[in-house]
Amino acid sequence: MKRYIFVTGGVVSSLGKGIISASIGKLLQARGYSITIQKFDPYINIDPGTLNPYEHGECYVTEDGMETDLDLGHYERFTGIRATQNNSITTGRIYKTVIDKERHGDYLGKTIQVVPHITDEIKRRMLREDDVDFVISEIGGTIGDIESAPFLEAIRQLKWELGNRALSVHLTYVPYLKVANELKTKPTQHSVKEMQGMGIQPDVLILRTEKHLSDSIRSKVASFCNVDIDCVIQSEDMPSIYEVPVNMQHQGLDTAILQKFGMPIGEVSDMKTWNYFLQLQHSAQKTVTVGLVGKYDLQDAYKSIRESLCLAGTYNHVRVKITFINSENITEENAEAKLSDADGLLICPGFGKRGIEGKIVAAKYAREHNIPVFGICLGMQIMVIEFARNVLNFHDANSTEMDENTSHNVIDLMEEQKNISNKGGTMRLGKYDCKLLAGSRVADIYGSLRISERHRHRYEFNNEYKAEYENNGMRCVGINPESNLVEIVEIPEHRWFVGTQFHPEYSGTVLHPHPLFMSFIKEISKE
Ligand code: GLN
Repeated sequence: MKRYIFVTGGVVSSLGKGIISASIGKLLQARGYSITIQKFDPYINIDPGTLNPYEHGECYVTEDGMETDLDLGHYERFTGIRATQNNSITTGRIYKTVIDKERHGDYLGKTIQVVPHITDEIKRRMLREDDVDFVISEIGGTIGDIESAPFLEAIRQLKWELGNRALSVHLTYVPYLKVANELKTKPTQHSVKEMQGMGIQPDVLILRTEKHLSDSIRSKVASFCNVDIDCVIQSEDMPSIYEVPVNMQHQGLDTAILQKFGMPIGEVSDMKTWNYFLQLQHSAQKTVTVGLVGKYDLQDAYKSIRESLCLAGTYNHVRVKITFINSENITEENAEAKLSDADGLLICPGFGKRGIEGKIVAAKYAREHNIPVFGICLGMQIMVIEFARNVLNFHDANSTEMDENTSHNVIDLMEEQKNISNKGGTMRLGKYDCKLLAGSRVADIYGSLRISERHRHRYEFNNEYKAEYENNGMRCVGINPESNLVEIVEIPEHRWFVGTQFHPEYSGTVLHPHPLFMSFIKEISKE
């Protein structure tokens, strides 16, 4: 029988609910249970695909092509599960399902209301059909937000209906007041009161804190909030997010949860590889620098790329220092000053014109100076444009995304995409197969001639130019077997020059880092 864990947050946002949910998943897996984790986002957008990365961080993509919140990336990296479109739900999707049903006549003339129609649809998605031991549902936003009320009502009802098969984990913040030298629990008490006011008694409290909480503070919280003391767990700032599950485990979060459910606690059978990873992370001495050439100077905007670089660093026994280099400020004149300190460059994905000329300068600099360079999605397209301009001498070469009238449209829309006007409609999203050329660097890196990777883009390498590239030193080494589209380019003569039309950063996990990131970091770590 399935059990349900609902993770909510209170006091302030950005406490790391995603990391906590992923950690709970990891710890239950380590005790031999199967899990799935899903995220409910209380905004009206159908998905976060069109949201500005400045507001919401990166858009993560599942194998089945759903554009999702970046927390899904944490879920996959921590637990190795492969999420699908069912793991990412927004208020917009809930309403759309209900409204579509209403138009279809499914409600037999009833008045459609938030309660019970919206809440029933939320409950249906919370309950899920898959066969797992635990469903972990993270609710975005903070307790008290108007938007999250229907989700909390759904949790209240499910807790009532499911009894001890449902459990509420509430994450709050305990601020430290420097002048008073005191840790304050009042915001937590208020947040729990707010939940109680909505009819939900949290079973487990996780307190985010910058300073260690004494047992007396924990027991004060326990007694004010009606929560057992062994279910009041603290989550101090950690040097790495990957320490969080282990820290939670040491405090008995997993045993507390299983006890509450009345389930066998069993042995921790599967944390060895995770602990080995942490050991490697601690022991790395050498630091390598990756210059991240992009336009969003915000930690979360390239989250999966940053994590993928760090994970690959750990397995290569190095620390990866990532320096963000804003491509809007890179010019031919300052390229040396801005780029030469990095051991390797990564040219980021992106949409639109802003900052693209600087990325082209960076690709040229890396190519000419034999600096390892990794281009992802738009980054790969930039490598192709730069090569056309400076090697093939097509001086106005461009992507038609940036210049519709270029006479050398080396990156372009496919014929069949041209008449589709709906923004989402033309995107190539999700997992596609790719054949690798035998003897290429990438075939060697993957150790296979057939791979499958996730995409999120609209424009493609223009195959009309393929022969020119191949004859001049840039090889098309990854090809989609159905459409013949170019998925990977490399320059065999270069130290490490690989561009991928897909997003490898979505599929590496803590225990299985992505081979391309591994190879890139290995190359830049060489003496
Ligand atoms: N803007 C480019 C396209 O749509 C690249 C997208 C990306 O980098 N994700 O093809």
